[in-house]
Amino acid sequence: MIALSLAEIADITGGQSHDISDPATPVTGPVVIDSRAVEPGSLFAAFRGENVDGHDYAERAVAQGAVAVLATRPLGVPAIVVDDVQNALGRLARAVVGRLGTQVVALTGSAGKTSTKDLIAQVLQRKGPTVWTPGSLNNEIGLPLTALRATEDTEHLVLEMGARGIGHIRYLTELTPPTIGLVLNVGTAHIGEFGGREQIAQAKGEMVESLPKNGVAVLNADDPLVRAMASRTEARVLLFGEADDAAVRAENVRLTEHGQPTFTLHTPTGCSDVTMRLYGEHHVSNALAAAAVAHELDMPVDEIALALSEAGTLSRWRMEVTERPDGVTVVNDAYNANPESMRAALRALAAMGEAARAKGGRTWAVLGQMAELGDEALVEHDAVGRLAVRLNVGKLVAVGGREASWMQLGAYNEGSWGEESVHVSDAQAAVDLLRTELRPGDVVLVKASRSVGLERIAQALLEGL
Ligand code: ATP
Ligand code: MG
Repeated sequence: MIALSLAEIADITGGQSHDISDPATPVTGPVVIDSRAVEPGSLFAAFRGENVDGHDYAERAVAQGAVAVLATRPLGVPAIVVDDVQNALGRLARAVVGRLGTQVVALTGSAGKTSTKDLIAQVLQRKGPTVWTPGSLNNEIGLPLTALRATEDTEHLVLEMGARGIGHIRYLTELTPPTIGLVLNVGTAHIGEFGGREQIAQAKGEMVESLPKNGVAVLNADDPLVRAMASRTEARVLLFGEADDAAVRAENVRLTEHGQPTFTLHTPTGCSDVTMRLYGEHHVSNALAAAAVAHELDMPVDEIALALSEAGTLSRWRMEVTERPDGVTVVNDAYNANPESMRAALRALAAMGEAARAKGGRTWAVLGQMAELGDEALVEHDAVGRLAVRLNVGKLVAVGGREASWMQLGAYNEGSWGEESVHVSDAQAAVDLLRTELRPGDVVLVKASRSVGLERIAQALLEGL
């Protein structure tokens, strides 16, 4: 972060200094909320969680080199005492970003935020120093922590913003006002909490409402609810997608035999071919979004295409493809799942099927529950089972309780029989089944909502050698 003195921090946060001998002491290290992450010069923000209270770790943080603690009460160590630590962090982030004048790129959407954020970061990194959200730290705590990592050298700040309800994105955009605001898609993620797709669109659209007149709203032309957001912003609109009127467009889209997308990227500066290292057709949309942002920041099409072709995954458990020495390929997409991402992953698996069959292998979809679907849960799980059959996936292993049985029933009703689709009660049962059944050339996709924890299956498959 930029060096701010404790006096300045107290001033920005409206806090009271306690036990601070020299208010001119600068914070030179990162702002952290986990005492184990403290570095010399850090500011330690004490949060009270469900199980742990950061205030209990204040002494340890200072012993490890934190210059002070941001807390809600005096603790006998150098502290800036505020009413609300989250609010104070937000104010700090806003002040720092305001001072830096860094280009702020913010993005939201139902699926693909982290993948796209990682793509944008890898593309922009070629142009200049870039700071981005690590993993999925996209909420009211993760966002300021990320923004506070920016320094005077930072040219681009790429921020993932997550919404679990109306007003969330607005709040986040107020902390770190973006000049480029991107909306990827409106799907059904968290639909149970939101109440419906219209509400989700309402919430995500707060991104473009926040943009200034001289800003740019980067919108997915292929998603009607996102396209419609153009009317909610004063900023200039830049469309990306496969639609003819998209300024940043993909043509000749197909998947290679390994399931990696290849296409011709068109931007207003020209066109260039891209073959991605990432797996699955859904990344075309993510890549176009990243290309649109990069184009806005004056990158030429050739450079963008090269960067997209070389970009890898930066975040774990998202279509992580590993081939075991015995020729079994494990596709670990256990990070999370919703209906859109399930379909995308199944299509990627299907694309890998031909190469697998050439080697005598089969495709396996080991799938668990998609959480938070509310009333749509039955229909959506049934649809996933049916899609697996329609895409000619070799074997469906539905893992877990009621939702898994709906998937298997969907597959059954779509025409699969006997061993083509099975329902097992838990991850261990799936691992036992796979251990005995897998053979060289097989490709196994593992995917479910985060809460199901199916990465255990992928890990067992990779370790059990
Ligand atoms: P979260 O809300 O959990 O942070 P996210 O929006 O950051 O999720 P990612 O982590 O990038 O999304 O991807 C989550 C899942 O969605 C992965 O399984 C991935 O394969 C799939 N996915 C990625 N991009 C898209 C897309 N454009 N459309 C549909 N599914 C996608
Ligand atoms: Mg994410």
